[in-house]
Amino acid sequence: MNQFRFSRRPDIGDKVRVSFEFFPPKTDEMEARLWDTVTRLEPLKPRFVSVTYGAGGSTRERTARTVKRILNETTLTPAAHMTCVDAARDQVDAVVREFADMGVTRFVALRGDPAAGVGTAYRPHPDGYANGAELVGALKGAGDFDISVSAYPEKHPESPDFATDFDMLKRKADNGATRAITQFFFDNDLYERYVERARRAGIYIPIVPGILPVHNFTQVANFSTRCGALVPAWLAERFEGLQNDPQTHALVASAVAAEQVLDLVERGVSDFHFYTMNRADLVFAICHMIGIRSHEAEAAGSAAA
Ligand code: FAD
Repeated sequence: MNQFRFSRRPDIGDKVRVSFEFFPPKTDEMEARLWDTVTRLEPLKPRFVSVTYGAGGSTRERTARTVKRILNETTLTPAAHMTCVDAARDQVDAVVREFADMGVTRFVALRGDPAAGVGTAYRPHPDGYANGAELVGALKGAGDFDISVSAYPEKHPESPDFATDFDMLKRKADNGATRAITQFFFDNDLYERYVERARRAGIYIPIVPGILPVHNFTQVANFSTRCGALVPAWLAERFEGLQNDPQTHALVASAVAAEQVLDLVERGVSDFHFYTMNRADLVFAICHMIGIRSHEAEAAGSAAA
């Protein structure tokens, strides 16, 4: 990433497809914010929107409720995240059936983090699926689902080396994964190298970059350390001194994310997954800059012209 490319490029919006990730809300206030976000982003017609699943299935009911509401009250296609932490196979299978009965056709299949927290040793449930690859196999056996899996351009923190990671990703692809979605990253060269290495390792499913708009740089920097994502010095420098200036912080964040996405488009990437953090504004602005617009906004623009 080396230069800003902020001019409106009408051709890009036609080529680029997006998906959005939400987490299930805990409180009424968070619920209201999520639905404001969903309502604002819905007209951008994402390919799908995914809803995360808390550690050890802790959000099972909230995830299911959120997915159901998306199905019933919007035109969006939901993808339910599933993990195998602390659950026997029949429990996981029952949750999959519950989602399928609701009308869910897409899943994001994950092993999940250790129940004791990121950084502690992962112990599979004795009767459970051991990892993401086994869960993909189970989903594929249960129905004709679209299945996304995780990928780590900077290596999964528990993995001893990239070869182990690629081995797992290949097993997930071989078991029927439709696409991989990456952990967020800020250095596009790392992503590009990762995709090249994956192809050389015989992994041919799409590897969709996960983009994290930086709502709060301090939080993102802390979280990045835990999940093994590099925060480049140039990024820290852009947000320096903005802790108490939310407006400038938001402007810089949308500029940084748009720059990253545009650079990836230049490199031939056409699909993006946005970690929305249940907030619409930055994602909406970034989508606008890459030419993804609501039909209402486009119609209003043509009428005014
Ligand atoms: P896997 O694909 O099974 O493994 C990931 C890597 O870890 C492997 O490549 C392998 O190299 C290494 N590894 C796995 N097991 C071992 C082992 N025993 N020894 C050595 N190395 C090992 N978490 C949630 O709780 N809920 C969510 O909704 C959620 N959504 C996510 C969405 C995306 C797009 C991504 C990228 C991550 C998400 N996570 C979520 C986080 C994820 O659960 C963690 O990163 C978890 O630690 C690994 O899960 P996985 O499916 O990537 O694991």
